[in-house]
Amino acid sequence: MNKKDYYEVLGVSKDASQDEIKSAFRKLAKKYHPDVNKEPGAEEKFKEIGEAYAVLSDENKRRQYDQFGHAAFEQGSGSYGGFNPGDIDLNDILRSVFGGGFDFGGGFGGFSDFFSGGSDRGTRPRKGRDTLVRLDLTFEEAAFGIEKDIELSLNDTCKECHGKGGFGEKTCDYCHGTGYVITEQNSLFGRIQSRSTCPRCEGTGHSFEKICSTCKGTGECKAKKTISIHIPEGVDTGHQLRISGKGEAGTNGGPNGDIYFEIHVEDSPFYQRDGEDLTVEVPITFTEAVFGCKKEVPTIYGNVMMEIKAGCQSGSKFKLKGKGLKVPNSLRKGDEYVIVNVITPTKLTRDQKKLFESLDETDLATGSEFKNYQKYL
Ligand SMILES: [Zn+2]
Ligand SMILES: [Zn+2]
Repeated sequence: MNKKDYYEVLGVSKDASQDEIKSAFRKLAKKYHPDVNKEPGAEEKFKEIGEAYAVLSDENKRRQYDQFGHAAFEQGSGSYGGFNPGDIDLNDILRSVFGGGFDFGGGFGGFSDFFSGGSDRGTRPRKGRDTLVRLDLTFEEAAFGIEKDIELSLNDTCKECHGKGGFGEKTCDYCHGTGYVITEQNSLFGRIQSRSTCPRCEGTGHSFEKICSTCKGTGECKAKKTISIHIPEGVDTGHQLRISGKGEAGTNGGPNGDIYFEIHVEDSPFYQRDGEDLTVEVPITFTEAVFGCKKEVPTIYGNVMMEIKAGCQSGSKFKLKGKGLKVPNSLRKGDEYVIVNVITPTKLTRDQKKLFESLDETDLATGSEFKNYQKYL
């Protein structure tokens, strides 16, 4: 199925600010929410809007989407990836954008928990949180790829209470086990009933005789985990690697979250990197420039011999095809550019100075570069 572009879905430009994205989402959500729009297709449209917003409102996901498009979030798309759009909780999004509720201007007090059925929020399986970790790599590690074991301290299910948060489970006496409470409000349009999650048991419907002291009732404890990752050749600063299902523990039997490694590559003291292309400056002597030479030039794959023709100018650029970095997860390779830097001699013997003086008398400045320059004077 061809998915629509997220920016198009929200009707915003590629460089839209977070405020613009939020405001576009608010407008569309009010128009298509299934509580108000009963037309066929409205629910689908609403889900589409929610998904687009979930991605674009999160700078992290937005960057991945800008980089890889929808492929960023496809399952099994290799090391790069994102989240599963199926995991989006539309109610969460609505709550974060509209707060507790808002008025449509038609006497509507707030969105119903249309998408999850409301009261089972606290017991519904939820995916663990995603974790973002900065990963520093040397230039060589990034160029050639590497296997790394990384130790992280992540939230894991508490071993003591098995993630329950306490011992001696009993029915919550505040909500009588339903997990929600009903409040009534008067409005211009009459009484509005709204249902919200029980504050005492947070929607689980039960409480404990004794709260677990190890996890202080949260059901989670920090645990050290070693994550083995394979870094593909050619990664660059700003790239992300996703290790799916190795992140923080889910709740109520939900799957683990993902770990995102955000890559930072150290500069090379030698090569200037621009994506997969490299540039290196090679100094040559005055004589080498005049007569031409064969010069040994470094590449990340080992030195190569490069022929420099007679009369080479300082700043000349040569391309060594395929000597750049690999494009991650592809067969393509960048190029290396060699910029020749002619070094003007500074320490001359008396005899050498005489030689230059005799060269000057023959007037070397006769080329078109010099003539063109004369016109400006
Ligand atoms: Zn309760
Ligand atoms: Zn515990």
